[in-house]
Amino acid sequence: MNQKTLIIGAGGVASVAAHKCAQNGEIFPEFMIASRTKSKCDAIKADIEKRLGNNLKSVITTAKVNADNVDELVALINSYKPAIVMHLALPYQDLTIMEACIKTGVAYLDTANYEPLDTAKFEYKHQWALDGEFKKAGITGILGSGFDPGVTGVWTAYALKHHFSEIHYIDILDCNGGDHGYPFATNFNPEINIREVSSKGRYWENGKWIETAPMEIHRQRHFEEVGEKDMYLLYHEELESIVKHIPHLKRIRFFMTFGQSYLTHLKCLENVGMTSIEPVNFNGVDIVPIQFLAKVLPDPSTLGPRTKGKTHIGVVFQGLGKDGKPKKYYLYNICDHEECYKEVGSQAISYTTGVPAMIGASMFLKGLWNKPGVWNVEQFDPDPFMEMLNKWGLPWHEDFEPELVN
Ligand code: NDP
Repeated sequence: MNQKTLIIGAGGVASVAAHKCAQNGEIFPEFMIASRTKSKCDAIKADIEKRLGNNLKSVITTAKVNADNVDELVALINSYKPAIVMHLALPYQDLTIMEACIKTGVAYLDTANYEPLDTAKFEYKHQWALDGEFKKAGITGILGSGFDPGVTGVWTAYALKHHFSEIHYIDILDCNGGDHGYPFATNFNPEINIREVSSKGRYWENGKWIETAPMEIHRQRHFEEVGEKDMYLLYHEELESIVKHIPHLKRIRFFMTFGQSYLTHLKCLENVGMTSIEPVNFNGVDIVPIQFLAKVLPDPSTLGPRTKGKTHIGVVFQGLGKDGKPKKYYLYNICDHEECYKEVGSQAISYTTGVPAMIGASMFLKGLWNKPGVWNVEQFDPDPFMEMLNKWGLPWHEDFEPELVN
């Protein structure tokens, strides 16, 4: 069977995924890293070769591709002939890459849902609309195989399969206790990150979406191995798919922790217009403020050697157990920034996304998550994915008496 994989993108997440594919040469005997800047792909390849030495079993190649251009993508896919494309560039390229996969009959996987460049609004409708075409082409599309979305959806499917007859309440808690020493920097692509956190908050309760002002809902929580943190309610893309796929749900929310320095800087940047996505004309050139800001902020891929501390990401579930009695359950992972850097040269945010991307592609290549159509991860069998999380660097833990979020 064709096991060739094409990774598109050469940023923090793609780099981790490539390292993990290379560590797992049995499933990934051959893969290509292709991005806009080929030198970045070559640097990832060189780093993998240096780290793995004689233990490297995969054949790795690199190429240049502009993933905004469907014809370029089709030509690359036709020449390399992968079984699956792992799209680890930016959400703006989801639809062009999906179109190229339909045209070439190749499976697709990503870690973030489509967002048009000119509207800071991400939603699944554009990608779900391609379900019929994926089915017609007989190809599998796996949406959102990072951590959140990704592991959070797999955990939800696992909780439902093994512990609950009905899940009523879900709170996803994303805590980054890492410190990179800069007054302000983002842990993944700054433009995507700032667009996400400066948008209005939204959660789902009793059948409808409730909108909040950005950062309006705030809670404090103690996170094991990290400590006491302020967390804020945000809208996050897996809420949309979990609401659709998990029956009996009464409420789902997403919280992320932020430090005071991050929030103060963000507020100031917002107040002066630097987070705007509306172009402004500067000396005859149209500049999008948030894109300019992303250029002057530290590149997330350079944060690895400076970041200390841990991430703690968990999901609190409440509902009725298999015996029909009220039940609560917490699944979580703790990941150490410095350990990740030692292993693959990246901090934990890229690590916690790149590892599940590799696992999602493995699920497809092993024939376990292989069915024509466009699917979110919670629609597949979670068990083999859960096993691989433990084996490939993101072990999960359970707590049957978790503190609830009020
Ligand atoms: P980076 O900004 O570090 O990397 C993005 C990469 O995409 C760069 O290598 C860039 O190339 C490449 N790229 C951008 N545009 C194009 C294009 N038109 N054609 C080809 N390549 C292109 O981002 P991250 O690695 O931090 O994030 C990658 C993805 O992962 C994003 O979609 C992000 O939203 C998602 N993510 C998901 C998470 C989850 O848990 N689900 C968590 C964190 C991130 P170049 O450098 O040459 O410009």
